[in-house]
Amino acid sequence: GATQTRPQPAAGSATTVDALIVGAGFSGMYQLHCLRDRLGLSARVLEQGSGVGGTWYWNRYPGARCDSESHSYCFTFDKELYEEWEWSERYPEQPEILRYLNHVADRLDLRRDIQLDTRVKAARWDAGANRWLVETEAGERFAATWLITAVGCLSSANVPKIPGLESFEGDWYHTGQWPHEGVDLTGKRVGQIGTGSTGIQAVPVIAAAADHLTVFQRTANYSIPAHNAPLTREFKDYVKRNREPLRALMQSTPNGHPFAIEDRSVHDLTPDEREAVYEAAWEKGGLQFRATFRDLLVDKAANDTAAAFLKRKIRQTVKDPATAALLANIDHPFATKRPPIDSHYFEAYNRPNVSLVDVRSDPIERITPTGIQLRSGAEHELDIIVFATGFDAMTGALLKIDITGRDGLTLKQAWEAGPKTYLGLQVAGFPNLFTVTGPGSPSVLCNMPVAIEQHVEWITGCIAHMREHGFARVETTPESADRWVAHVNDAADATLLPMAGHSWYLGANIPGKPRVFMPYAGGMARYRRICDDVAAHGYEGFEFA
Ligand code: FAD
Repeated sequence: GATQTRPQPAAGSATTVDALIVGAGFSGMYQLHCLRDRLGLSARVLEQGSGVGGTWYWNRYPGARCDSESHSYCFTFDKELYEEWEWSERYPEQPEILRYLNHVADRLDLRRDIQLDTRVKAARWDAGANRWLVETEAGERFAATWLITAVGCLSSANVPKIPGLESFEGDWYHTGQWPHEGVDLTGKRVGQIGTGSTGIQAVPVIAAAADHLTVFQRTANYSIPAHNAPLTREFKDYVKRNREPLRALMQSTPNGHPFAIEDRSVHDLTPDEREAVYEAAWEKGGLQFRATFRDLLVDKAANDTAAAFLKRKIRQTVKDPATAALLANIDHPFATKRPPIDSHYFEAYNRPNVSLVDVRSDPIERITPTGIQLRSGAEHELDIIVFATGFDAMTGALLKIDITGRDGLTLKQAWEAGPKTYLGLQVAGFPNLFTVTGPGSPSVLCNMPVAIEQHVEWITGCIAHMREHGFARVETTPESADRWVAHVNDAADATLLPMAGHSWYLGANIPGKPRVFMPYAGGMARYRRICDDVAAHGYEGFEFA
């Protein structure tokens, strides 16, 4: 049968731990801390990279930085950890976030239980022994009662299959696998494919270094200026003094950011008043723009007013009218794709060494030894191609592991028609497997450290509950998962989010991937309440044995 051709990790030589955690980003590190230091379990983290940090270990492209404000993009569970770390900027750059996560690893003494350079290849539930058998790429074996995936929502890089890439005589890079030693762009003709959140960060920085930058745009995108700046002493002190209220604020909002969504409708204001609100939010910068009105993401007419404002800003910023028209030709409501923020993105198109190519009307046909050729036959000669083409989001890294649950059921089979989870935390048929920020959880619609802390703490609580009651096994039921998937769909349909039909939220960036709205759009605060209720009612929807 199909299971026989699968790797069958043998138990004999396996290293045995209570809990095995896959991934050493925010999620995996906090999970290790909770299970080892709070519950006293033996635990091991396996990480394919050569360092900790996850996203911030891999994404070293020019301009890589955070779109969450620094004082919210960190752990808040520990007072001292929060207060002793000082961020330098409003939006920290990748090296600073990576330094922070390394600091966390040292501070919580995590490294002794993190095994780097170790890719998990397969995991199989051994029902007889009530444990997961896990095999790494190098053939090493582990056995664990609990398997916790902390593999990341945006960790499986997507390089589109464009014919001819292998013939390209220059160099090419995916932004999520950027070389550690950096790339010298001096004197180079660079082509960048992709204008999502990453692409928008990269353009101005690549433009400043390269001889010429050609940006290949398929989907024009809104962007709000970040107005990044060094933090003042005053603000740093304010942050240090206010961990608790800031944490409470972040946990009370739908998206986990340290600002509340204004409780007013676009329709409450006159057009002039509205304009003033948008102008002020534009001046302030950042994701807060989305929080100016409560109905921007649920009412198309409301959203249209923000969209019109932002498109006008693009046309005012970009001097060449044809380029401006292409950049402002946005086909989806504001914030229905992951909303980028930027540092002088649109301004970069005013540089003489930057050009924009519209590959919606004239798609990329192939990559030639010397560059990129479009369907019309037009050719762009390049020395370097940068793929800012994102990720096989939310399910990619999970499905890359060959996971076999009860009765030979594989995760690939279980998710053939799209991911199905209960609370984004468990999959029916996969006992004792927890998925941190799994599909069906708020994850990417949220400031992620807030979502991650909640998930990890909930999982830790569930495992503590098992130990208290002497349970060996926990598994959600197919009925619970079906009900949750229906609720996830309803939550998405109550918003404008599904209107961006080409969004990675829907899996639309990956050919052949089922089109299912994957993150939970009901809001983080509401999600937390649901999870708390489930636990308070004896873990309703889960079965213990
Ligand atoms: P990750 O950081 O992705 O870590 C997962 C780890 O698992 C990786 O190191 C990976 O190597 C490892 N792994 C995966 N599969 C295996 C395997 N089979 N075997 C072994 N190891 C494996 N979020 C925000 O909230 N705000 C932002 O502004 C923001 N900006 C972002 C910018 C970029 C460029 C990207 C890519 C993401 C951004 N995110 C942002 C999302 C970000 O991924 C999360 O905030 C957070 O870092 C996720 O942490 P994690 O530990 O869950 O996953």
